[in-house]
Amino acid sequence: MRIVLFPHPALRFPSVDIQRIDDALRATVQRMFELMYESKGVGLAANQVGLPFRFFVINPSGDPAQKDQEQVFINPIITSKRGSDIHEEGCLSLPKIYSDVERPAEITIDAFDLNGQSSKRKLKGFIARVIQHEYDHIEGFIFTDRLDSDAHDEIYAEILDVAEQFRRQQAEGVYPDDDTLIAQLQATAATGRIPADFAAT
Ligand code: ZN
Repeated sequence: MRIVLFPHPALRFPSVDIQRIDDALRATVQRMFELMYESKGVGLAANQVGLPFRFFVINPSGDPAQKDQEQVFINPIITSKRGSDIHEEGCLSLPKIYSDVERPAEITIDAFDLNGQSSKRKLKGFIARVIQHEYDHIEGFIFTDRLDSDAHDEIYAEILDVAEQFRRQQAEGVYPDDDTLIAQLQATAATGRIPADFAAT
């Protein structure tokens, strides 16, 4: 299991709800937190590790010692958005690329946690931004989609570098070609659950 780079097809795949909270999901979530901390991130979505499911993890502190800040959002729905706010963002699937992104300042989100408890929360500030960034991922968007053309032009060369890195990984056999990856994503999505050994791959 590893963090995929843009343009791995998982990042554009229409993610589906996960059908059960089981050991495979718990192990995957734990591994996602580890990968996120190793990469100095504050959030990681399932499709960033090549899974076609609607869930993501966050820790706005980015500090593995602050376990109380860890949150898992399973089958989330953002039900309302308010206001507007601009802040710099980066993404573990587009390493070392940063740009200011405008987003709603306040959101209401419904989601399940790992215990199967659902909750509805109203959030604002940095955590609301992190959640919206991750929510975009499971909807098949990346933060660069939200930039105007001038801002996008400024980082375009860097995006191409990352894309080249991903194509090299495919050429080296780390990943199969895009058609095979998409077929694998469709097959996994159709089962509604994470393969039992996924976290160990
Ligand atoms: Zn991201």
